[in-house]
Amino acid sequence: MIDFRSDTVTKPCAKMREIMFNAPLGDDVYGDDPSVNALEAFAAQCHGFASALFCSSGTQANLLALMAHCERGDEYICGQNAHNYKFEGGGAAVLGSIQPQPIENENDGSLCFEKIRAAIKLNDFHFANTRLLSLENTIGGKVLPLSYLAQAREFTHSHQLALHLDGARVYNAAVALEVDITEITKHFDSVSICLSKGLGAPVGSLLLGSVELINKARRWRKVLGGGMRQAGMLAAAGHYALEHNVTRLIDDHSNARYLAQRLNEIEGFHVDLTKDTTNMVYAHVSDTIDIHSLAQQLTVKGVLFSPNKTLRLVTHLGVNRADIELFIAELTAALHV
Ligand SMILES: *Cc1c(COP(=O)(O)O)cnc(C)c1O
Repeated sequence: MIDFRSDTVTKPCAKMREIMFNAPLGDDVYGDDPSVNALEAFAAQCHGFASALFCSSGTQANLLALMAHCERGDEYICGQNAHNYKFEGGGAAVLGSIQPQPIENENDGSLCFEKIRAAIKLNDFHFANTRLLSLENTIGGKVLPLSYLAQAREFTHSHQLALHLDGARVYNAAVALEVDITEITKHFDSVSICLSKGLGAPVGSLLLGSVELINKARRWRKVLGGGMRQAGMLAAAGHYALEHNVTRLIDDHSNARYLAQRLNEIEGFHVDLTKDTTNMVYAHVSDTIDIHSLAQQLTVKGVLFSPNKTLRLVTHLGVNRADIELFIAELTAALHV
């Protein structure tokens, strides 16, 4: 199957599977798993943090970050479209007693500092304590400019807020900007990173932060049932992904660009080619096209995508140029039946 639904569908390559198979193991709840320890030490070092925590998912890493930064009755400011507000089951409120204060995202995915300033609560017992600003990069495939991140750091310092990055796809941002990952991560107090998306590991995310913050997060991870035992088989895959699957993300971006151009040639589909959305293609589908029926027909031909009025097609290591040609050919054929 050619699967455009998400980069979460990537499967480990043969070499990654071999490394997982041979990974040295121990009980990570005792701190005894050499592969988990190696990943956490490597990740902390290469992202410029004192400590790191291997987590089961990006959702868990974000929740642990919120629960480590905030106490009961605190609040975090985030985008209305933020994954850790909109797509994580309300975990911060449900499990952390932490109130979200969402703000409308600007068109480029950023949050306006004036709007954030207006949302910060006074120190008064009527209000929750505003503790944290949470940004997301990439967001909807869009890359936040480095200058914006520097401004966010300055802004949060001047308002005594901590700064978290949901960096599920932060490597797509670094590769698109052609900078070392630390040029992005250096602005934040904590960063979550998905190993299981474009980087191609089967399971797992990282949370990065200070020793104090990560110790707190490690405690919450246990409380939430996330203490994993011989997790080294998964950690070894993530370690391999960080070492081998970063630079190739540029191929996903150029494939997305190519897919966007080809889709734009098809009547009824429109992609805004002026916007760079890294490994994602957003195509507006005209009302004359029955996208649900089209998705069913394409499934039979071996192509998967989520049918929506605005199609989101995601490129990743399981999709190459030939796959895109095949998709365009099948799509064109289905439209002309
Ligand atoms: C996928 C994603 C997450 C959550 O990751 P899971 O591993 O699916 O829980 C968090 N934030 C963003 C921006 C994501 O894209």
